Amino acid sequence: MDYPAEYFKAIEYIRSKVDQMLTLIGTLPLRPEELDDTTLIDLDPIGIVTESFGQVLAHLSDTNQQLDMAKREIRAIFDSMDAAVVVLNDDGSIDDCNRQAREWLFHNRDYADLIDQPLAAVCVCSDDVQSRMAAGQLDECEFEFDGRHLQVVASDIHDAQNNQVKKVFICFDITRQKNIESSLQLYAKVFANTADGIAITSSKARFLEVNDAFCRITGYSAEELLGNTPRLLESGRHDAEFFAAIQRSLDQCGHWQGEILDRAKDGRIIPLLQAVSAVRDAQGAISHYITIVTDITSLKETQTRLDFLAHHDPLTELPNRLLFTARLEHAIERAARDHDIFGLLFIDLDRFKTINDSLGHQFGDRLLIAVATRLRSLVRRADTIARLGGDEFVVLLERLHIPGEATTLANKIVQAMRQPFLLHDTELHIGCSIGITLYPEDGGDAVTLLKNADAAMYRVKDSGRDGYRKFSPDLSEAADEKLTLENALRLAVRNNGLTLHYQPIIDLQQQRIIAVEALARWPHAERGTVPPDQFIPLAEETKLILPLGEWVAGEAITQFTRWRTQGIAPDYISINASGMQLFHPGFADTLFELLREHQLEGRHLQVELTENVLMRDINSCRHVLDRLRDHGIRIAIDDFGTGYSSLAYLKQLPIDVLKIDRSFVRDIPGDANDCAIAEAIIGMAQNLGMDTVAEGVETTEQEHFLTHIGCSKVQGYYYAKPLTATDFATFHRRFSG
Ligand code: C2E
Ligand code: MG
Ligand code: MG
Repeated sequence: MDYPAEYFKAIEYIRSKVDQMLTLIGTLPLRPEELDDTTLIDLDPIGIVTESFGQVLAHLSDTNQQLDMAKREIRAIFDSMDAAVVVLNDDGSIDDCNRQAREWLFHNRDYADLIDQPLAAVCVCSDDVQSRMAAGQLDECEFEFDGRHLQVVASDIHDAQNNQVKKVFICFDITRQKNIESSLQLYAKVFANTADGIAITSSKARFLEVNDAFCRITGYSAEELLGNTPRLLESGRHDAEFFAAIQRSLDQCGHWQGEILDRAKDGRIIPLLQAVSAVRDAQGAISHYITIVTDITSLKETQTRLDFLAHHDPLTELPNRLLFTARLEHAIERAARDHDIFGLLFIDLDRFKTINDSLGHQFGDRLLIAVATRLRSLVRRADTIARLGGDEFVVLLERLHIPGEATTLANKIVQAMRQPFLLHDTELHIGCSIGITLYPEDGGDAVTLLKNADAAMYRVKDSGRDGYRKFSPDLSEAADEKLTLENALRLAVRNNGLTLHYQPIIDLQQQRIIAVEALARWPHAERGTVPPDQFIPLAEETKLILPLGEWVAGEAITQFTRWRTQGIAPDYISINASGMQLFHPGFADTLFELLREHQLEGRHLQVELTENVLMRDINSCRHVLDRLRDHGIRIAIDDFGTGYSSLAYLKQLPIDVLKIDRSFVRDIPGDANDCAIAEAIIGMAQNLGMDTVAEGVETTEQEHFLTHIGCSKVQGYYYAKPLTATDFATFHRRFSG
């Protein structure tokens, strides 16, 4: 008899499903023997035919029941699987699928809607996957669908004739596994590439893992570290309590963070910022420690540098005033306690300002560095040398055995500073003035000791510089006196308390007074007439030179016009101006205004400036001088030869006259050297198209020599001292008459 077609179909269907389940998942509760027992699987249809029909039918119905049962069982298992299963016919249409497949792949569409539909039509995913679906090539692949990472295992179903009739796809959700994998990869990357050193140690503090940065920072290779303990890195800079505190913190709160000094493999001490965290297992016991270290060497260096800069002079790297005062105060405390004495030297360089002004600040800076070096070589290491600013240095001499040690050192320094400094092939002669105080005799506190040393130093300056002097109480009066003098000068400038004296400038060839120089005087009630050498520097220091200079110009021009109306008419009047005036914005305009007021042409006025002023800032200088020259005002260089003028430099400025300094005139014609200098200056001036005036001519011999070498314009006591306005008028009449 013929068996119904469904019979074979059912057998084949179940058989294939069971096979698939068993081979692919391996977890089905059915065993092949159970199916064997139904005698269906190995049943030979031909054998059955020979049985009686009734038997066969009964058998069949029995078998069908069992088949139904097995089908339901399988369906239940099928739908409860944690994998999406899709059975495809060989034309690519869906033959069957489980609940999970509907949820994961088909957006929970009804089962009925899916069956017989082409898979590619109902599962909308990436083109790539879709084309593989269509081609039935999804075997052993992974793809992402709807945020799920799926792994597909495929296998073929064969019919009894071993023809492939269907394909089963089973998709497992491996999203979680993938996520863990990728975060692990990320952790590994971070671990390997971070700039911070990371070490994982066991609960027994043995290195289990270290990253590259940890090796780089410590200088050890991973092989050298692994298995070792962090003791390998101990610097010996921390005591047992330090490490005990770390351990306590780890035990109590599972964490420690702080700065630590470790020792690198090459012996170098490395400052580290370190964070240690304890990792606990499920039972709460510490399983690992994770240590993260940041190398803060450069941070520390910057900090040290900043600290240094705050307390040192950046140029000479000597302690600055701040640090010096601290050390001085400390020395006072110590000496007071130990009934000890110490000394303080206040050093001020001589002629530094001249060099700085004429040769430039860069030169000045180099000179200061050289001075600092020389000073360092003279004092004991225990003594402090500091630069208080400008060209002021101080030395603190602690633990003096005898007070005389301070003066001995001062003498040594003075001698040493007399030796020339060689900078850029230029020999510079400076020298210094030193004031000395001793604790406790010259002061009990830092301020007094410094102030009195400064006063002693000033006394050295006043008496010709280049020396040292120990403070004595009368010197502090001198300092007070300076203050009194300053106040008196202020009053004198304000209240018209100054006068001018006038010295003629004579042209020997023309035998006439060609000009007159105005020189300031300060008649003082108690001191008599104070000479300008004493009050001009003070006026410059206090900026009083600005109103003072303005007054001089006004007074000189007024006097000059007054003389002219009296028929006393030299060609021009010459006034002296200091640098502060020249660089003051209103300088030229004030002069123009005065000339206009007195209806005087510019050629009747000459301004005398010293070399150093001119060397200070060529551009600003030229700007002002060009304006003066445009107005016809004459420009003279005063005291020529005493500065460090460069000729090329002077050539750029509109200069009419060089006034040869008195110091070169004094010893001619006796001193061959001075004669040569005077002659050279005159020759040079002629070359540059400038006129010359010799200052300080006191003898006939000087006059003869000067005329002989081509300088016929002279000024000096030989002809006339600076005179009052009235005396000048008399002198002029007599000379001309
Ligand atoms: P200076 O401009 O070189 O003036 C010449 C100085 O030499 C004057 O000194 C004058 O009295 C002195 N002298 C002139 N002939 C002889 C001589 O034959 N033998 C000697 N031994 N000395 C002579 P004084 O008046 O004491 O002035 C000194 C300096 O003070 C001036 O030098 C000038 O640089 C400055 N000065 C004077 N008045 C003023 C002023 O109004 N403003 C500014 N900024 N400086 C002034
Ligand atoms: Mg002068
Ligand atoms: Mg002069």
